[in-house]
Amino acid sequence: MRVGIVGAGIAGLAHAWSAAQRGHEVTVFERTPKASGASIRNFGMIWVIGQPDHMQSIAMDSRDRWIHAAKQAGFWVSPCGSLHLAHHDDEWQVLSEYVAEHGQTQRAEHLQLLDRSETLSRTSGANPDGLRGSLWSDTECCVDPTSAVRSMPAWLHRQYQVEFHFSTAVTQAQTGLIRTGDGTHHRFDRIVICSGDDFATLFPEVYNGIPIRPCKLHMMRTVEQPQGWRIGPHLAGGLTLRHYPNFKKCPTLAALQQRIAQESPHLDRLGIHVMASQNHLGQVVLGDSHQYGDEVEPFDTSDIDEHILKELVKIIHLPTWQLQARWHGVYAKYTDGLVFEQVVAPGVIVFTGLGGNGMTLSFGLAEDAWSRWEPL
Ligand SMILES: Cc1cc2nc3c(=O)[nH]c(=O)nc-3n(C[C@H](O)[C@H](O)[C@H](O)COP(=O)(O)OP(=O)(O)OC[C@H]3O[C@@H](n4cnc5c(N)ncnc54)[C@H](O)[C@@H]3O)c2cc1C
Repeated sequence: MRVGIVGAGIAGLAHAWSAAQRGHEVTVFERTPKASGASIRNFGMIWVIGQPDHMQSIAMDSRDRWIHAAKQAGFWVSPCGSLHLAHHDDEWQVLSEYVAEHGQTQRAEHLQLLDRSETLSRTSGANPDGLRGSLWSDTECCVDPTSAVRSMPAWLHRQYQVEFHFSTAVTQAQTGLIRTGDGTHHRFDRIVICSGDDFATLFPEVYNGIPIRPCKLHMMRTVEQPQGWRIGPHLAGGLTLRHYPNFKKCPTLAALQQRIAQESPHLDRLGIHVMASQNHLGQVVLGDSHQYGDEVEPFDTSDIDEHILKELVKIIHLPTWQLQARWHGVYAKYTDGLVFEQVVAPGVIVFTGLGGNGMTLSFGLAEDAWSRWEPL
């Protein structure tokens, strides 16, 4: 079967891989000379812990596929795990409730509550001032998104003969056919549209009335940390407990959310929660904020970065905070589920809306999709 894919972000690559592994003849079209969207602008966190319980097996499948892809394609991956640091009693309480809730589940073997000194022995990146303890999880991985996503096409071509057409915009897609900007027609049996936050070019009518919108995030990266300093696991803190759905069932979360809303309403307004990951070059990637829909402006205002840094300093210690880069990314966020997957014409499927989970879930979701979709 001939499969055409629009977009060489992580979603498009995931579909290309899953389709090619099933023996299909795959062609990927990407309008930019190299992937430059959300997939290369993120933390590189394979954030299994942030996923709701019903997504754990898909997230773990994704994680395994990342490790496999890294070996095959030759990019860096670290099974670094993660720590949620607690600097307030309510944060510690939420973490304790989360562990208690998962005591009888498969997740239990991956989780451990650490006291203050155990936490400090796991990372020298935790700010010891007011540190109460942390939640350790061993399931998270780290990749450098830019090098990982940009190295996968060569590997997929080498290993599975996937064809990539970069600098090639798809201007029209319909059953059996893709038309590109140079007027060429390409014939396919199945087409998967992984065009990220571009809701305007292909099937714009499909997005009308659907709870999907763009979300803009501010990000920063430090210079290489001195003397080979390593952060160890990914670090997150109390603000993150409000962000991912996994902590929703914890009874103390509402009180924590209320405290933060009262103490610092701008954090809710700007969707700020803070996290840090460290790439293979020793640089620490820092973020982030969330502005949705009509709030998305092309201008990056420095006050957002200042708020992010102020919160990071409260929970994280770094040998140097000197910044090497600032940027923003935009992803498509679908709020009625973790991905927007819709057949828009016979044999043509739109697959986007992964929000802040695309790096974590794309490989697993694409596998799941191809096992459901087959045979045509
Ligand atoms: C700042 C930031 C931090 C994040 N951190 C994490 C994280 O740590 N962990 C995690 O799991 N997720 C994270 N995410 C989310 C994750 O990055 C996204 O969910 C994911 O990258 C979306 O992938 P995508 O392939 O759908 O979109 P994209 O990466 O945007 O790719 C879409 C591609 O389609 C191409 N395209 C669009 N239209 C056409 C067309 N007509 N013809 C040809 N090509 C076209 C675009 O050029 C683009 O390359 C983060 C996102 C951001 C922005």
